[in-house]
Amino acid sequence: MDVDYDVLIAGGGMVGASLALSLHKHSQGQLKIAVVESFPLPPLSDTGPSYRPSFDARSTALSYGSRQIFENLELWSTLENHVADILNIQVSDRGHFGSALMHCGELEWPALGYVIENAWLGNVLLNHLRRHTNVQFISPASVEAVTPMAAKVQLDLQAEGGETSCSASLLVIADGADSGLCQRLGIHRRVDEYAQTAVIANIATELPHGGTAYERFTAEGPIAMLPLLPDEQGQSRSALVWTFPEDDADAAMNWTDEVFLARLQRQFGHRLGRLLKVGQRVAFPLRLSFAEEQVRRNIVVMGNAAHSLHPVAGQGFNLALRDADALAQRVAAAVAQGLSAGELSVLQGYLRSQHTDQQVTTLFSDRLTKLFSNRQPVLSLARNMGLVMLDASKPIKSRFTARAAGVIKGRDMELPL
Ligand SMILES: Cc1cc2nc3c(=O)[nH]c(=O)nc-3n(C[C@H](O)[C@H](O)[C@H](O)COP(=O)(O)OP(=O)(O)OC[C@H]3O[C@@H](n4cnc5c(N)ncnc54)[C@H](O)[C@@H]3O)c2cc1C
Repeated sequence: MDVDYDVLIAGGGMVGASLALSLHKHSQGQLKIAVVESFPLPPLSDTGPSYRPSFDARSTALSYGSRQIFENLELWSTLENHVADILNIQVSDRGHFGSALMHCGELEWPALGYVIENAWLGNVLLNHLRRHTNVQFISPASVEAVTPMAAKVQLDLQAEGGETSCSASLLVIADGADSGLCQRLGIHRRVDEYAQTAVIANIATELPHGGTAYERFTAEGPIAMLPLLPDEQGQSRSALVWTFPEDDADAAMNWTDEVFLARLQRQFGHRLGRLLKVGQRVAFPLRLSFAEEQVRRNIVVMGNAAHSLHPVAGQGFNLALRDADALAQRVAAAVAQGLSAGELSVLQGYLRSQHTDQQVTTLFSDRLTKLFSNRQPVLSLARNMGLVMLDASKPIKSRFTARAAGVIKGRDMELPL
């Protein structure tokens, strides 16, 4: 382990690992980077994914905008072996008349998005990271304390061999939604409890999904079924995200597989034929949380530590990836001009450039969640009218889809909702 880095990233999850690759790319390998991850690094493997925090049993819908970023990082050609294309999105409201269908052909895109199992995403990111000698992955180790110094931060780490310390021009805090480092630095969060819990699981289905992602709103909460690649036996599968009021989630986690499938079938219908099998279920309590400060001299807060969104619109990681790429470009350019990676004006410039995207994406996810979780009849009518309008109007649909895909910028970012 070295003692002085240009950038040290605390947290080697989906966001921390992506940021390290982006920094490496944009600086053409000129930055000395460390990623500190408290969970042990899994063994190197090209044959199967391994589960660990962040790269767990979930799947992630990657937007078309994220594909463009991964292409630029030269990762897409590997990632695309593990993604299922989203060719259509069907949005519907159980027991009501509204429904909308979006096709990739309408936007002349090859796909509206891509679904990847988090474990595979982790495999690809971590395997690429290991190839770069200027990036040190320090694991298992955790960043325990941060002390601001004149032009750097000093970091105390708890590693396998005991306590150690190092310094960095820039510390990126990417340690997740319950960020212990933000707490230690007195960075407060605005938290809006949704009082909902997402239960995720892979579901084997009788009929192939044909590249359709389903977003279904029910009285109990939204259900998303995202297309996955078939399993090794060729069995068609979709990734379920079923959002429950928090008081009901424990019961749902304890239903037998038969009861779980029967109840899901009743809510979701027979769009995918019979629901045959449910994989391991995992529950995630949901809240919107936003760090009140994202940059300080020599410090940036990223990913879930900066903003943690409801998963209904599939935006959290996509937004964080755009943040990470924007930060990497600015830091690489600053260092090339002889500035420090942690220069406050550079970090403030980064935050200004991402401010609108962060605000609009957060509002988009939040409004969608609240509109579709609400049982009031007037809102129920409004959302069904909305779905019908969405289906009828090509410009509205294109804007909605482009917003969800994270590829609209500037003034066009006004909300379609
Ligand atoms: C059910 C569900 C479905 C979702 N679906 C989508 C989707 O389809 N599309 C999308 O864009 N987003 C989705 N998201 C959001 C997405 O999962 C998050 O945006 C993403 O996981 C954030 O990653 P992260 O690296 O910031 O945080 P985390 O995944 O929490 O990673 C933090 C890492 O930091 C490590 N760590 C913690 N403390 C320390 C320390 N002190 N020192 C060192 N390491 C530390 C942890 O071990 C962990 O590996 C979904 C979220 C949920 C809950």
